[in-house]
Amino acid sequence: MRVYNFSPGPSALPLPVLEKAAAEMTDVNGTGQSVMEMSHRSKDFKPIIDKADALIRELMCIPTNYKVLFLQGGASLQFSMIPLNLAAGDRPGQGKKASYIDTGVWADKAAKEASKYAEVEVKASSKDKAYTYIPDAPPPSADDAYYHITLNNTIVGTKWDKLPNTGSVPLVTDASSNILSEPIDVSKFGLIYAGAQKNLGPAGTTIIIIREDLIKKVPDWIPMMLRYDIHAAEGSMYNTPPCYGIYIIMLVLEWLKNLGGVEVMGKLNREKAKLFYDYLDASDMFYSPVQKEYRSLMNIPFITTEQNEAKKTEIETRFVKEAAAAGLINLAGHRLVGGMRASIYNAMPIEGVKALINFMEKFEKK
Ligand SMILES: *Cc1c(COP(=O)(O)O)cnc(C)c1O
Repeated sequence: MRVYNFSPGPSALPLPVLEKAAAEMTDVNGTGQSVMEMSHRSKDFKPIIDKADALIRELMCIPTNYKVLFLQGGASLQFSMIPLNLAAGDRPGQGKKASYIDTGVWADKAAKEASKYAEVEVKASSKDKAYTYIPDAPPPSADDAYYHITLNNTIVGTKWDKLPNTGSVPLVTDASSNILSEPIDVSKFGLIYAGAQKNLGPAGTTIIIIREDLIKKVPDWIPMMLRYDIHAAEGSMYNTPPCYGIYIIMLVLEWLKNLGGVEVMGKLNREKAKLFYDYLDASDMFYSPVQKEYRSLMNIPFITTEQNEAKKTEIETRFVKEAAAAGLINLAGHRLVGGMRASIYNAMPIEGVKALINFMEKFEKK
């Protein structure tokens, strides 16, 4: 029996995608091979990566002056690759300036890693209120190489609605947990990156959407595997790409297109999130700690109103356990935040959200 999986990542994938991959496991497209067995440079694999590229361009309306790269290392490797490619100096330790906004654990990690290679300034932070809001974004410094934000904050459940105006300074964003969840205007960004394991496919594969003028020759000391110019020139095949991950992403994109694309998915996601937030706002037992105007559509943390710490922990532990027994799994909050969290990515059907609300109503009564 399939469960409703509310995991923040790796997360549920659409069942039709898994079924198609299973049916094609030993023989894809009449090639007599599994995608895992193919040469990445063969005529058998080329249509798969080409289709993934074409579909993501179509679904996200990516302008022609952007490249899409299918790399490895997760979103976390981008924390290093971005400063190394956009801001590195002729020698380590001589980097250019870059601005970061600190909206949570991932944003903070990105800034800390970048500060090894660039002169990072954290321009604003919402740490003062446990990251439960998105701070006002000050303008960039004139000589910033780029300006970094985390578009959706997976752990605390906030998202940017109004993008900062960075003028001619390229806006760079981590969209790992909200890529393809609703329309975004790619032309507002210099670079968008996302680990695949939330809305796209298997962990490890990473998508980078980069404006071509930002793909530049970089200082010689930067490792070949960490250079956008090398990966772009080689069509994401400088070395063996994560072929099977790219194939699953292609199937997920195909599934999304058949559903009507990102516009339709955005409407559905808003409907799902509204149902759940409306329930939380009316509940006497659970609430959302996030300020209303900054609430994520994808990750929804919730806390019990119980004030006694020991009792609270006991209730939360029981909640997560009983929910799992009812087929609603992975509802524990992040270890740094506590409480509970429901991640309702694209692959979570509205029935899953309704089942969760139903369970919570019963739990509340008990
Ligand atoms: C999950 C996540 C990451 C980490 O991704 P990895 O692929 O594990 O490196 C980074 N940023 C955000 C916003 C995430 O949700």
